[in-house]
Amino acid sequence: MTPSSNPFILADGRKPNCMEMLQLILDGEASAKQQDYFKSHMDTCMPCFKSFHLDMSIKELVKTRCCGDQAPQSLVDQIKMQISQNNPS
Ligand SMILES: [Zn+2]
Repeated sequence: MTPSSNPFILADGRKPNCMEMLQLILDGEASAKQQDYFKSHMDTCMPCFKSFHLDMSIKELVKTRCCGDQAPQSLVDQIKMQISQNNPS
């Protein structure tokens, strides 16, 4: 057991939960170490795997649909609704 090997451990020693790790990754604020750790974490954590790929596909979709143009709000709303239905938290 070596919890200190987790590069996500916060300055105060608190271990971030899956959502916090995911947020760092998706915001592009994770270090290379953290990205590596998260990649192997996803192999064993299905919720993280699903959330990560869902978010990535949304970003890709939005990027390809509205390059420089106005964001298609209806599309974004539609995707958000689907997500909230999948994650009733
Ligand atoms: Zn996880």
